[in-house]
Amino acid sequence: MGHRHVGTVPPMTLETSPPEFVDQLRAIGGRGYVVRRADSGKLESSHAVLDGVRELCERDTRDFLDHEGLFFEVGPESDALLTAFVHRTRRGQAAGGLRHWPYPTIEALVRDGLRLAVGMTRKNAMAGLWWGGGKGIIGRRDDANWRDRGYRDVVYAEYGRFVSALGGCYVTAEDAGTTPPDMEAVFSTTRHTTCIPPVLGGSGNPSGPTALGVVCAMEAALDVRDQGTLAGKRIAMQGAGNVATFMMEALLERGVGSIVASDISESRLEHVRARIGDERVELRHSAPDDLSIFDTPCDVFAPNALGGVLNPDTIGRLKTGIVCGAANNQLLDDNHDMEALAARDVVYVPDFVANRMGIVNCANEAYGFVPNDPAIQRHLGRDWEHSVFNATRRVLLRAKESGQTTAAAANALADELSVEDHPVWPRRGEQIIEGLVESGWAKR
Ligand code: NAD
Repeated sequence: MGHRHVGTVPPMTLETSPPEFVDQLRAIGGRGYVVRRADSGKLESSHAVLDGVRELCERDTRDFLDHEGLFFEVGPESDALLTAFVHRTRRGQAAGGLRHWPYPTIEALVRDGLRLAVGMTRKNAMAGLWWGGGKGIIGRRDDANWRDRGYRDVVYAEYGRFVSALGGCYVTAEDAGTTPPDMEAVFSTTRHTTCIPPVLGGSGNPSGPTALGVVCAMEAALDVRDQGTLAGKRIAMQGAGNVATFMMEALLERGVGSIVASDISESRLEHVRARIGDERVELRHSAPDDLSIFDTPCDVFAPNALGGVLNPDTIGRLKTGIVCGAANNQLLDDNHDMEALAARDVVYVPDFVANRMGIVNCANEAYGFVPNDPAIQRHLGRDWEHSVFNATRRVLLRAKESGQTTAAAANALADELSVEDHPVWPRRGEQIIEGLVESGWAKR
């Protein structure tokens, strides 16, 4: 399984590929970090080889946004690059999913980790969860047999050990490229994870709650636009997958007039047809590059398939006043595409405001389960200040009043919430990171 580098190790630049970076990390003992020291507020790298990453963080404040720590380790057997990005732990331990993904350069990996960790801080804070934000990335080695179960068991168990060694400043979870059996392997070597399979005490499929959360966000957007309720409305959606199908059921229950949904998979559409026999639903098979669903006149358009679908090719085609869906990272370019939507007077509900229920469903699974769980249900009601409906209304009204885009208003609100200290364990994450540095975490 090893790919040991023989000979001199070239100097690290941001263009270095993750496997080359693995060689450099191994040369310094297999571990390294860049952390923000609590006393000075300055970034510190454990070894010179990490200075390029530290400088990137110092230079690019847009992505960096005051992260507390970035941790790197070489998988001892797999040779994979194991990383954790801890953005902010004021509300609690940094929580966010684990990506297993290939990256061409260390810069691409680090930027993705930084950006995604900030996104988790905001999503968790907006949801009123007592969790901070972080992200894990395993740099996928395409020279390894990464689809093989045996290899995956090794690399995910290594990742769990890596998370254990971080002492609980980061709590991992499932994300793109990571599956339930992978999470089982993570759980075999660390307690600092959520989203474990239900047979091991985890929470199970989040698609139903995610769909219900997005529907609450749609209701809030209609309300803010004085368009009443969902009754009689026309909804168009890209994708008819797991979340979309639960969403169709919830929308039909609320009396929508019609739903049009496209999907590239004929077998998926067959499944949905068999599950939902309602003449208000029109299912369309489409090719992957077919954008005609964006032309559909509707009250709400829901991107429920892929990220990056709100872009210069699609925004001009929209015939809707509201975009609100489940997909992550819907804007291809956060600033440009947000402005384009605003210029067309389309109310965009930021994805992290609408689709929080995936993480809500699993975040507190260690506290056990209650039928019709009030800890989940309060997100879907109207009484709690942080419910999806109330949070969405607050974001959209703030945007309206301040003249900001909805994304800027959501980020500002989430950033305010993200610096509230955990009521029982204030500053615990920062203390854990200080402890790692003091105890020589990276000196091996
Ligand atoms: P899924 O894979 O079940 O559904 C996605 C569907 O989109 C599939 O049926 C696929 O065939 C279809 N699709 C792919 N490309 C398409 C295209 N070009 N045009 C039309 N259809 C296309 O996934 P899901 O669990 O339903 O999640 C949907 C989205 O919501 C994803 O972006 C996911 O990251 C996000 N999300 C999901 C959850 C959750 O709880 N499952 C939580 C938060 C966010």
